[in-house]
Amino acid sequence: MSAIADRYQAILERVALAAQRSDRSAETICVIAVSKTQPAEALIAAYAAGVRHFGENRSAEFVAKHTALAHLTDAQWHYIGNLQTRQSLPIAQYADQFHAMDRIKIAERLSRQLVEIGRNLPIFIEVNVSGEDSKHGFQCGNWENDAGQRATVLQAVATIAALPRIEVRGLMTMAPWGVDEALIREVFRRTRNLNGWLHSQLPDNELTELSMGMTDDFEIAIEEGATHVRIGRAIFGERQ
Ligand SMILES: *Cc1c(COP(=O)(O)O)cnc(C)c1O
Repeated sequence: MSAIADRYQAILERVALAAQRSDRSAETICVIAVSKTQPAEALIAAYAAGVRHFGENRSAEFVAKHTALAHLTDAQWHYIGNLQTRQSLPIAQYADQFHAMDRIKIAERLSRQLVEIGRNLPIFIEVNVSGEDSKHGFQCGNWENDAGQRATVLQAVATIAALPRIEVRGLMTMAPWGVDEALIREVFRRTRNLNGWLHSQLPDNELTELSMGMTDDFEIAIEEGATHVRIGRAIFGERQ
């Protein structure tokens, strides 16, 4: 399992270099080790290597690992998958952050559960800026030119931000697959600009963070302002 430690160190170095290139300090960037599909032993090895932020995307698997690793009390759990409404309770109970808020209905249900439990949950609102049909998230593929699209996403963010116990931190996005670096960079930049625009419209909210970048594109994401990168394969190796 020392391969995990070596790979994690290599990632931290690449994160630091990307931060430097964009005149930021590496401490402003949260590296989430996406541990989905990995056995609990792999998470324990990652923890020993210094990982404190884990990313999961299946409700039952998340609960099992959260339980198995309950003794690692400073581990932080990021739920990065899209949710069906009936799966939301474990997220309300145990997640430290939720990165894939893509429907007002989910937000309302989570909010009710959080109120009952008495917890706050920081969240990222997922936006589809590349415009691909296959992507989750609020449609923002043409937000700069389409006033209707802008109004819809603004209304959704305002509605979600007004819910008790839900703290909107910023936007999350996924870059398109298999395209030029220039296009990936543009999607990240447009997401950052959208976050800035939403922040200007809703100044009471902390829309200042950006969850974007994975194994294949996290350096570009950092250069374009990512505060949270979600890295799986480059830390744990290929998924089974
Ligand atoms: C799996 C996953 C990741 C990590 O992907 P890698 O390519 O393994 O780095 C990041 N974000 C989300 C939403 C994912 O589902």
